[in-house]
Amino acid sequence: MELVLILGIVLVVAVLATGIAFATSRRSLRRQEEAERAAVEQAPSAPAASQLEAEPLVGPGPGPGLEIVLEPEPEVVLEPEAEAEPEVLVRPRLRDRLGKARALLAGYVGDLRSRERIDDDTWDELEEALILADVGVGPTQAILDDLRRRVKETGASTTDALLELLKTDLVEQMSGADRSLAFRPGEMNVWMFVGVNGVGKTTTIGKIGRQEVSAGRSVVMAAADTFRAAAAEQLQLWSKRVGADLVRGQEGADPGSVVFDAMGAAQSRGADLVLVDTAGRLHTKVNLMEELKKLRRIVDRSPGALKEVLLVIDATTGQNGLTQAKQFGEAVDVTGVVLTKLDGTAKGGIVIAVQSELGIPVKLVGVGETAADLIPFDPQEFVDALFSDGA
Ligand code: GDP
Repeated sequence: MELVLILGIVLVVAVLATGIAFATSRRSLRRQEEAERAAVEQAPSAPAASQLEAEPLVGPGPGPGLEIVLEPEPEVVLEPEAEAEPEVLVRPRLRDRLGKARALLAGYVGDLRSRERIDDDTWDELEEALILADVGVGPTQAILDDLRRRVKETGASTTDALLELLKTDLVEQMSGADRSLAFRPGEMNVWMFVGVNGVGKTTTIGKIGRQEVSAGRSVVMAAADTFRAAAAEQLQLWSKRVGADLVRGQEGADPGSVVFDAMGAAQSRGADLVLVDTAGRLHTKVNLMEELKKLRRIVDRSPGALKEVLLVIDATTGQNGLTQAKQFGEAVDVTGVVLTKLDGTAKGGIVIAVQSELGIPVKLVGVGETAADLIPFDPQEFVDALFSDGA
């Protein structure tokens, strides 16, 4: 009897000790996870585009130190109504932000204007200017062929007249596309953002969120790039700044469940718009494209909800952006391009290349890092800005 009693006590003590040890290890795991999150918050923002240019489209996933996930189920956090900044959005002038692209062309334009007539050298210089501005070889030839035809038809003989015809030609090449962002009042609208890491997806979502909230629409942001903690943290900051709700999962959670929950949250709150941030890099390119297709299928479970799939391209990467666009376009039907960082490049011609080579309209351009620095793309304004004189 006594033996049974002693054995019983020993058993109870053993169970208690195991429980305490388990609880302690869970606590320390939680502390470690909190420390990781704090470190991520303090981490510098995404690397500059120049660093990213050399990166392949895909690569290794999140580092091993960031893979502590205590619960297997994604934990969805719905942010309370945010502390929106009373920030007034002043739309920047494209002309002021295209300084680098304008400077590149200005030299050629000045040179051309100083010539008395249109000769072979004129055509050579024009070709060089367009190639350097990253219009691309194919589109440049098409533009020059068209221009030769126009010169013949109009009998233009001065270089001033030639430049005017070039401007008309460029605007016409880009006109006719529908650049509006599809939105239907009274229903849930989903806009998905795709593109490689560092191109400006999260920043673009923040800017669009700010503009849409200012226009009186209620916005839910979905942090479906669950592979990088920093991406969700950054989106969370934007959501607070602009007054949008945020749905995010734990790192490593299924991105599909984040999208699903974000749409559920938007439905139950009667929100107008869900902005979905997606991963830009996974273990392999195939994985990434399959993941994006899966997300698209999840959104499509609500027929008609997916209104836009916007491919974000960094203008400073020039023609590399076109390669990315082809790859993403094959995986998910892209409805429009957002061309970011036009303020930081002399390669403004990429706008023309994207549309003529891919047939996808550039809908928005990013010209800076603040919420106001995202503007609808207008071909006439763009061409006028590129060829305008003065500082
Ligand atoms: P993501 O990895 O695609 O989500 O890229 P991020 O949104 O993190 O942006 C990467 C960097 O590009 C950040 O430092 C942004 O501030 C910057 N960025 C984004 N859009 C623009 C733009 O239009 N102009 C400039 N100058 N910087 C931009």
